[in-house]
Amino acid sequence: MTLDPPTLLALSTALAAAAALYLAVEWRSIRESSLLFWSAGFATITVGSTLALLRGSGLLLIGIWFANGLLVLAHWLFLLGVARFTQARLSRGWLLIIAVWVALLLLPEEPSWSKIMLVANSLLVALPTLRASFLLRPHGRSLSVGAGQLRYVLLIHGLFYVIKAISVVTPGTLIDLAALRGEIIQISLVEGAMAIMLIALSMTGTERYRREKRIARLAARDPLTALYNRRALEVRAPRLLDEVSTERPGALLLIDIDNFKLVNDLFGHTAGDQLLVTMSEMIRSTLPDGALAARLGGDEFVILLNNASSERIEALGCALREQFHTAASQAFATPEPVTLSIGATLFDAPPASLAALIEQGDSALYESKRGGRDRIRLVDRTVGGYNI
Ligand code: GH3
Ligand code: MG
Repeated sequence: MTLDPPTLLALSTALAAAAALYLAVEWRSIRESSLLFWSAGFATITVGSTLALLRGSGLLLIGIWFANGLLVLAHWLFLLGVARFTQARLSRGWLLIIAVWVALLLLPEEPSWSKIMLVANSLLVALPTLRASFLLRPHGRSLSVGAGQLRYVLLIHGLFYVIKAISVVTPGTLIDLAALRGEIIQISLVEGAMAIMLIALSMTGTERYRREKRIARLAARDPLTALYNRRALEVRAPRLLDEVSTERPGALLLIDIDNFKLVNDLFGHTAGDQLLVTMSEMIRSTLPDGALAARLGGDEFVILLNNASSERIEALGCALREQFHTAASQAFATPEPVTLSIGATLFDAPPASLAALIEQGDSALYESKRGGRDRIRLVDRTVGGYNI
């Protein structure tokens, strides 16, 4: 099989159709609108490259102007998809691309017609492609690996079209759009087929990676407070616990709200939920660097600290208890005070397991409850430690 221009165009048509279908199927399961824009972009390329074959039959307006215009439209749709993906707003100025495309119809037929057409079309493809690549640059929260890939594929594709536009104006370059003759056209057709595959694969990768991240995030978080859940804590705790040594003791604080049921019973479950959220916000704002916090369930929370000391535990426990007591007493008048009981344990060697550590915290918490609630009970298991 010789890779003459019509064969390459037919190959691009098939690849673009496959990409459009693939992205549409992907959209059916993920339902991200960017996938629809990208799928529409490849469908447009499918139609465009089919029509491009008609130039061989002398239908130049459809085979060149309209077919190339569809290629521009496809890249514009890619840009819209990327804008959706990155939640960026595009200026209306981008509609000018379509106006320029229509204006190309007015181009007088002269010997350099093919060249001007090619330069204009190349730049109209390059602009939205480079803009899309720019939108995918890491900013704010850094983008995923998948998005990074798409960014570079679009950057290379966009730069290729810029180089294509520049090379056309080099004296002596042969461009014959009607007969698809000239090296630039040949190279461009090969690049087109490769770009279709790479862009489509990076697009699906981009969305999948983000979806996986989202699912992992949802699975790790307590839905009410967005703190880690027990499972997520179990995954993250070993790293912190392994670093525990006599120089850098670790600590666990198990926190339970006192008389929480009264809030539920007297003010309703929603009010109870709100108090749990308030509690989680307090934990988040007082949490030292490198510490982990989670909601174990119900009204029970846990904090894991590294580089701890009994003074730090006491300071953190007191700050939380005071803040919580103030917030709860202002919001809810209850017959019994709604306060915090804390059971803490300080240790200078990695524990057998997180479960064993939580058990130690639990017995300290039980003592704190039995001692009258609204207090902290610290069991110091470090060498030479003393208890409060
Ligand atoms: P104590 O002082 O002994 O800790 O008693 P308490 O009233 O705080 O109740 P306890 O800790 O024994 O039980 C926690 C209660 O929290 C039980 C349950 O009704 C309620 N609860 C558990 N999960 C949720 C939740 O997601 N939202 C709300 N509003 N209430 C919850
Ligand atoms: Mg409680």
